[in-house]
Amino acid sequence: MLAAATLKDRIMIQEHFAHEHLPSELNQAEIDAYKARIKILLKEKDACLVAHYYTDAVVQEITEETGGCISDSLEMARFGSVRPEQTLIVAGVKFMGETSKILSPEKRILMPTLEATCSLDIGCPIDQFSAFCDQHPDHVVVVYANTSAAVKARADWVVTSSIAVAVVKHLEEQNKKIIWAPDRHLGNYVQQQTGIEMLMWHGSCIVHEEFQAKGILELHKIFPEAAILVHPESPASVIAIADAVGSTTQIIDAAVRMDNQKFIVATDRGIFYKMQQAAPGKEFIAAPTGGSGATCRSCAHCPWMAMNGLQNIVDSLQAIDSDVSCDQPALHEVFVEAKLMEQARVPLQRMLDFSKAQHSH
Ligand code: SF4
Repeated sequence: MLAAATLKDRIMIQEHFAHEHLPSELNQAEIDAYKARIKILLKEKDACLVAHYYTDAVVQEITEETGGCISDSLEMARFGSVRPEQTLIVAGVKFMGETSKILSPEKRILMPTLEATCSLDIGCPIDQFSAFCDQHPDHVVVVYANTSAAVKARADWVVTSSIAVAVVKHLEEQNKKIIWAPDRHLGNYVQQQTGIEMLMWHGSCIVHEEFQAKGILELHKIFPEAAILVHPESPASVIAIADAVGSTTQIIDAAVRMDNQKFIVATDRGIFYKMQQAAPGKEFIAAPTGGSGATCRSCAHCPWMAMNGLQNIVDSLQAIDSDVSCDQPALHEVFVEAKLMEQARVPLQRMLDFSKAQHSH
């Protein structure tokens, strides 16, 4: 096992936050004005807006109002790739913009901010990860979607949390040894579900890592009728007390499917926007966090996702026709080197094909 989530990573994360620019609070009149501007600009610039479940509600609202897509990183990229618009505005974090670019290389991909990243991406630098893989050439390299384009390019498979167990089982059937990166909690969960040992990288999500079983059980005493929904990036002790464990989309489906009227939810609270829509009348309670990790500002809301706002969506749209030469990305534009894109598309496509084959059976 390699411990990449070291004190150094924590310090690096703190430094990111020190320079972070959160969108300022807006009143209703300002929100309305920004939304109206975004609607005009999206049409004018032939652009489409996609957003992650963890972005703020106001970002999800404008995405829906303009016919865009709110989903997980892969569905955002897939949706963007089949849209007729030539430009995508990706509200999320850096690896999501890169994944969209990899699946739509002919399109321009812009983000409200290029500063928004992810502790899993930061905690898995390509040089160290590549050296680790080189030490184990007999292993198949499986990486989570929450990684840089360079790490994806080094991998044999990219997986999402919803398909990870199935892919690992599939590889085991072929007697493959597996390297798993970067989320150690999701990796542990996959090991526990499959009984398959993997060589593990030690990254973690600063939001999910903060959930604590003790606090959740105390809250459950107050709401004993509530079901506990948990994302598998959470620690094993939290997963152990869950009534349902799953990816963002699977957790929303569980809230709809289960008979309970109340839910304690251990994932980013941005998901409540879609959850409430999918299961109107049901009540969702944010699971408590320890607040002792990289930053207590992470309490059930990703500080990088929170960097996306209406103001910088307008900024990114206005940057589309900025005066730049073809070989130079515009402000807000995601750039991935052509060779890297080609290499990263292989493990991504492998997962998409695997998922398609699974669903056709
Ligand atoms: S919630 Fe966690 S995994 Fe998702 S982008 Fe933020 S830090 Fe990364």
